[in-house]
Amino acid sequence: MFIGHYSVAFAVKSERNKIPLWVLFVAVQFLDYIWATLVLLGIEKLRVIKGFTAGSMLDSYFHPYSHSLIAAIIWSGVAALLYKPLCSWLGYVYSKSAALIVGLAVFSHWILDLIAHPRDLAIYDNEWKVGFGLWNYRDPEFALEIALLGFGIVLYLARNVMPAIRKTALIAFGIALVVVQVGDTYVPRTPLTDKATVVGVWIFYTLFVVTAFFLEKIGSRRQIKSR
Ligand SMILES: [Zn+2]
Repeated sequence: MFIGHYSVAFAVKSERNKIPLWVLFVAVQFLDYIWATLVLLGIEKLRVIKGFTAGSMLDSYFHPYSHSLIAAIIWSGVAALLYKPLCSWLGYVYSKSAALIVGLAVFSHWILDLIAHPRDLAIYDNEWKVGFGLWNYRDPEFALEIALLGFGIVLYLARNVMPAIRKTALIAFGIALVVVQVGDTYVPRTPLTDKATVVGVWIFYTLFVVTAFFLEKIGSRRQIKSR
């Protein structure tokens, strides 16, 4: 699962919880950020094999600290706890329910990975591996990614008040994400090394986070400080 993860970020953002979209963009890929970092450090293991599954070249044969069920639950808790200091640091509105939503957004990653991944997701440590393997079916997996994203964006538009220009930018962002997914699923390429792959993950995910940050600035009135 790739862009489908962002459906959750779009879907859960509301006027009430006021969680910045960029925070949710980090949250839904939190486990992959940890994974990419641990692969870079040589702690978790990845093989990139052409045609490993129809829709992905990633053979994540050892990723217990980022992608086991137990690890996912722990990281979700950590993220929920981190939300409060983050809010006080950056001056965001904090609520306990928002922290819970951030934690659940982190956990959603594991559930969506469970659908797509072959049986490489451990329940604990490197044991009892599960995965429904939708990546073995390229078109249905691609369709699910797009459908999820579309659904998330529709919910975001419905639950948040925003100027027309931001709506347009949001749709453009959605299309850009679809293009990235088309490239990932359908454009043939030679496999990169494991390290280069996870550096790419870091770069792309962070580009999306930065885009989400600026997206929510578009068309907002300048705050004039009164003395
Ligand atoms: Zn993942």
